[in-house]
Amino acid sequence: MYQSIHRLYHHHCLSKIFQPVNLKPKDSNVKKDEPMSLSQKLLVETGIISLRSNGMFALLPLGQRILKKLMMIIDEEMISVSAQRLTLPLLTSADLWKITGRWNSTGQELLSLQDRHNREYVLSPTHEEAITSLLRDVYPLSFRQLPLKLYQITSKFRDEMKPRFGLIRCREFVMKDLYTFDESEAKAIETYSEICNAYDKIFQRIGVPFIKVAGDCGNIGGSFSHEYHYQAVIGEDTLLVCHGCQEATNAQLLSDSVNAVCSKCGSDMATITGIEVGHTFLLGTKYSEPLGGCYQNKQGKPEAAHMGCYGVGLTRVMAAVVEVLTTSDNIIWPWEIAPFKVCIIGPKEGSLEAGVTRWVNHLAKVLSSLPGYEDDIVVDDRHRLTIGKRVLEARRTGYPYIVVVGKKAQEDVPMFELIHTTTDESCYLSHHMLITHM
Ligand code: ATP
Ligand code: MG
Ligand code: MG
Ligand code: MG
Repeated sequence: MYQSIHRLYHHHCLSKIFQPVNLKPKDSNVKKDEPMSLSQKLLVETGIISLRSNGMFALLPLGQRILKKLMMIIDEEMISVSAQRLTLPLLTSADLWKITGRWNSTGQELLSLQDRHNREYVLSPTHEEAITSLLRDVYPLSFRQLPLKLYQITSKFRDEMKPRFGLIRCREFVMKDLYTFDESEAKAIETYSEICNAYDKIFQRIGVPFIKVAGDCGNIGGSFSHEYHYQAVIGEDTLLVCHGCQEATNAQLLSDSVNAVCSKCGSDMATITGIEVGHTFLLGTKYSEPLGGCYQNKQGKPEAAHMGCYGVGLTRVMAAVVEVLTTSDNIIWPWEIAPFKVCIIGPKEGSLEAGVTRWVNHLAKVLSSLPGYEDDIVVDDRHRLTIGKRVLEARRTGYPYIVVVGKKAQEDVPMFELIHTTTDESCYLSHHMLITHM
């Protein structure tokens, strides 16, 4: 009982949070003249991420909070389609990649290494081989246990030729990858559309407008795929969106993307640029055939499973939402993944009477007990700084709400300033009004 009450009233103090702003890497591998995107600049300047080496970033505590919120959305939507979470090893045996042919076809993006016994491994950029070999090894898995849906949320490594734009194209990044196994192509297509619905929900919950396009199967292969994109100027993919029926496709799929007309309705297509944040593939038996990823069919015989794979780049989403929503030097976070929902700022040390400061702790307690705000309140308790300086920093980091406990908190009816940073509106509210507003 005590523990649950304690948890309910927990809030965080900014003075204790490790948030080294604008940290510059000393690593000699870091290229100094790389182009920076807005999200990279702001996430580094606000101490959310830190560049550690070429194409590799540390997610600092605030970044970790954003990642955790993305993971929670994904976990909930995966539970709703009965997918189960697991973790595969970081290294995958090179033999598996040789069997599927991707050892050669992937090119230099694939980083390989040898252990002390001279065994070769790849630093996994994706896990189709690894997961299919797991199915192979658990045989006989009965047809009754299908569809099987397994996913993980782990770091991937790709030795990108041009790592750039911070978390948008880095070498090490966090991806959620789901793999599905079915009895037949028809059932795999059913699973595919079920997962696509779950993906729609994930992106709806993140809350940033997205475009779903027919995608390029690339080196992963398979029969068809869809990509989820955020429209952004720095997007590296060219997308064609139909003026008539809104059908959209990645230009990579078309041989002649200038003169493109919609294959569905014949209207002209508009060209936009997008950041790919998610990708779904219907794989067929491309991996299960060569690797022996079989289930036991009704006749008791092994049969290659029909697979699908589905990726979301969590760290890329973190940066891409900033690219889409932010128009100035103040980050705008989607409500659901903001590092904290409310930042409370009290008076500068010694500037106001002691009673006013008590409001800071009181509001922190009350707000963190409201549903949806638990663990989401931070107090900027660096009381040696002026209110103005702390408000500027809070705006820059992008907490959706800032509550200022200032001069007006001394009045007979204490009033608090509520700033809604997303809309840039602010107003003074009484204690009661503030709580009902949230
Ligand atoms: P891109 O076309 O941008 O190179 P991809 O098509 O190679 O991406 P997939 O293999 O489809 O990527 O991987 C699934 C998801 O992983 C992507 O939709 C993206 O969100 C994320 N992702 C891929 N490469 C990177 C990277 N270098 N840095 C960050 N995230 C990445
Ligand atoms: Mg790629
Ligand atoms: Mg792509
Ligand atoms: Mg892709």
